[in-house]
Amino acid sequence: MDEPVGDGSAGVNCDEALETLYRYLDGELTDERRVLIASHLDQCGYCGEAAHFEAELRVVIADCTRARVPEPLLDRIRAVIADEARSG
Ligand SMILES: [Zn+2]
Repeated sequence: MDEPVGDGSAGVNCDEALETLYRYLDGELTDERRVLIASHLDQCGYCGEAAHFEAELRVVIADCTRARVPEPLLDRIRAVIADEARSG
């Protein structure tokens, strides 16, 4: 049940490109698939924009999760939250 393999010029359509965008950005696609999506994003302004936006978003999220919050600060935040809970 292999998918029909074209000569590479057919590529993917917008639906397919957007559907696989997340997996593409996560690096979960096969090399073959990656190339197909990449070439579509290259040629299609709409999907290219969407991919760019998603990629930017990921960088921001990655930055946020990479930042380590020092333990003393966490304790203070917890204390403030506990205080708030008590007074509220
Ligand atoms: Zn497209």
